[in-house]
Amino acid sequence: MGKALIIGAGGVASVCIHKCCQNPDVFEEICIASRTKSKCDALKAKLDGGKTKISTAQVNADNTDELIALINEFKPDVVINLALPYQDLTIMDACLATKVNYVDTANYEPLDTAKFEYKWQWAYRERFENAGITALLGSGFDPGVTGVFSAYAMKHEFDEINYIDILDCNAGDHGYPFATNFNPEINIREVSAKGSYIEDGKWVETEPMEIKRVYNFPEIGEKDMYLLHHEELESLALNIKGIKRIRFFMTFGQSYLTHLKCLENVGMTSIEPIEFEGKQIVPLQFLKAVLPDPASLGPRTKGKTNIGCIFIGKKDGKDKTYYLYNVCDHEECYKEVGSQAVSYTTGVPAMIGAAMLITGKWNKPGVHNIEEFDPDPFMDDLNRFGLPWKESYEPELVD
Ligand code: NDP
Repeated sequence: MGKALIIGAGGVASVCIHKCCQNPDVFEEICIASRTKSKCDALKAKLDGGKTKISTAQVNADNTDELIALINEFKPDVVINLALPYQDLTIMDACLATKVNYVDTANYEPLDTAKFEYKWQWAYRERFENAGITALLGSGFDPGVTGVFSAYAMKHEFDEINYIDILDCNAGDHGYPFATNFNPEINIREVSAKGSYIEDGKWVETEPMEIKRVYNFPEIGEKDMYLLHHEELESLALNIKGIKRIRFFMTFGQSYLTHLKCLENVGMTSIEPIEFEGKQIVPLQFLKAVLPDPASLGPRTKGKTNIGCIFIGKKDGKDKTYYLYNVCDHEECYKEVGSQAVSYTTGVPAMIGAAMLITGKWNKPGVHNIEEFDPDPFMDDLNRFGLPWKESYEPELVD
């Protein structure tokens, strides 16, 4: 039915590519393009021979002209951006120039400031609308499935939603004292930034890791979790009717936090370039180079993730509480696609988002966050492609 150009060949891209190949009626042909072509070729070698035709290419996604040339040559129906948030705008520019739909899993970040805001990508709205193409922003798990869960709760369970708590628990154990489950540079920028949440239409800022709660996660048990800033808070507060407060919590173990504090204290998480032996280096980029590659964690990680949203609101004039979540097992993911659950829970929704655009189930020219679309076909595909969701009407609440 369609063709997808996938940019990036890391942990998330690998899962997305496996899943495209499991859905050959939609993905007849894919091209895997990244900075390091050998990684694209290795993925092709692993998956070739099925119904989905695979090709590979080398591309520097910081360079819009290179991207335009590749898109013109391959002629995809959609570009799935699974490189890094720094490349979002150059890839969107190339999609505009060639009139091709766009999907990503993380909002644009400037390289020199760890700032998570949609303003740069929302500024493309009119141009995408005029070109008749769709940009689907944030089609991972969080952002991504958390937005689809919110749209589903709004459509089927509530007249208005007043409170949302997004809870992201990774109870996986990889046996290393310190490692990150996705790109270390992006992960550490996210968790070392100030926390924030939205209350009564305003952002409330906290110190990093200032707010801690303990939560008893279904199928996992009690874990410490910390309030973080997260990008989907910004769009959900606008798109979900009746929001008074929206927060995001993520679990961290003590060993991770102790190592992070120590690395911060010695300056290793800084993104300010420093002079080292006559060369400019960014400490965080150097740290990334010495940490384990997230892709190598797959065979070692045991345990589960549980990510979901607790909604509190009103239905037919009565108060109501509703919890939607997914539980994913690291070892099962590894058995199926050779990756741990953090890459899996991001790569599956990236494939589903692209499938929504290729099949025309979602068709709304412009730049849109995922909760702006009909959640039902996406929710069906989550069950079909390995991320079944569960619901509860009496969840434990977060104070
Ligand atoms: P990886 O570091 O494993 O992979 C990134 C890939 O992008 C690598 O193949 C890298 O190439 C490639 N790349 C980087 N820069 C360029 C460039 N300029 N041109 C072409 N290719 C480039 O990251 P992950 O797979 O862990 O993460 C991918 C994305 O998913 C990130 O944006 C991350 O923020 C997002 N994410 C979203 C989540 C969600 O739930 N929404 C959760 C987890 C991640 P090379 O091999 O040469 O380095």
